[in-house]
Amino acid sequence: MSNPSILILAGDGIGPEVMGEVKKIINWYGDKRDLSFDVSEDLVGGCAYDKHGTPLHDDTMAKAQEVDAVLLGAVGGPQYDDLDFSVKPERGLLRLRKEMDLYSNLRPAQCFDALADFSSLKKDVVAGLDIMIVRELTSGIYFGEPRGIFEEGNERVGINTQRYTESEIERVARSAFELARRRGNKVCSMEKANVMESGILWREVVQRVHDTEYQDVELSHMYADAGAMQLCRWPKQFDVIVTDNLFGDLLSDAAAMLTGSLGMLPSASLGAPMENGRPKALYEPVHGSAPDIAGQGKANPIACILSFAMALRYSFDQGAEADRLEAAVEKVLADGVRTADLLADEGVTPVSTSEMGDKIIAALDASL
Ligand code: NAD
Repeated sequence: MSNPSILILAGDGIGPEVMGEVKKIINWYGDKRDLSFDVSEDLVGGCAYDKHGTPLHDDTMAKAQEVDAVLLGAVGGPQYDDLDFSVKPERGLLRLRKEMDLYSNLRPAQCFDALADFSSLKKDVVAGLDIMIVRELTSGIYFGEPRGIFEEGNERVGINTQRYTESEIERVARSAFELARRRGNKVCSMEKANVMESGILWREVVQRVHDTEYQDVELSHMYADAGAMQLCRWPKQFDVIVTDNLFGDLLSDAAAMLTGSLGMLPSASLGAPMENGRPKALYEPVHGSAPDIAGQGKANPIACILSFAMALRYSFDQGAEADRLEAAVEKVLADGVRTADLLADEGVTPVSTSEMGDKIIAALDASL
């Protein structure tokens, strides 16, 4: 059988730096765990624009459709700020998400004990936190029609439309229930059924998918505003939260920051299963290209490394190896190793991007 395939799109700014550490880890799995991948690399974002005049070449898009997983670094930079909207670096990323139809966006909020002091919340509220927000990514108010700014009488009116079909809700609900079965077996669905018809439909459909296919999973419903309060009050009550595009955008950012630095946050965007049963998938850190520290070896590679751990778990069915990688990250943090973004104490010397990668590899070696 052929090896699973990965397309690496490192992108701009710190993207290639953090992805360099992921490549070391991919090689480690081939050398030490007999787990080899067919890896190819290509351009996305500003670097693709520089070479091809477009942030995502058609050939790259075609490759992304064929591989088992795409790993993306980050795109963008100030030198591209004045480009036309249609060729801005971010358009490359949006095209990937749209054409791969990645409707289920997984944003974990996990607090490593060693970093619990970094949260703006009290330590006992966040220590050991491990929740997953599943955000619908390809529909809802960011895509609904009509949209625009129109003249109405003697003033202008801005319009966006929240629109969800039953099948769009069903597929993201299934994604959340499947995920819950691999975790704590609980799903909380969030909408505003008290004031929005799309919320009423959302609640009905999620309940129906539960009752017909996932009765073994515990399901609760919460209004999204109450959910935001509960996330700050006692986030550990949740396991998987499923919600729409707009609320998911807000709730996942809020939940992510419970855990500290942007340099720690991975994500996955999943679509429908392909012929081999694996979902279409793109894995990427939440952070951007960080032009302020690019090229200086200061970037924290952990968000990108944890994104690869998600790929091991969700694309390659290697849950035990994903656990091993996450444990290696936890061990290194517990040993006090810190990149500059994780330092509150000025007496500690930060490690570089590649030193952090090497320490994680040493912890992987020690796990054998
Ligand atoms: P950013 O995430 O790049 O940086 C915000 C701050 O966090 C900066 O101070 C940066 O140094 C720090 N930071 C981010 N990642 C870090 C890491 N791994 N290690 C250490 N520190 C880290 O957001 P921004 O500054 O608003 O945007 C910069 C560029 O990135 C813009 O062009 C923006 O459009 C783009 N962007 C891309 C993505 C993406 O590729 N998915 C996401 C957000 C922003």
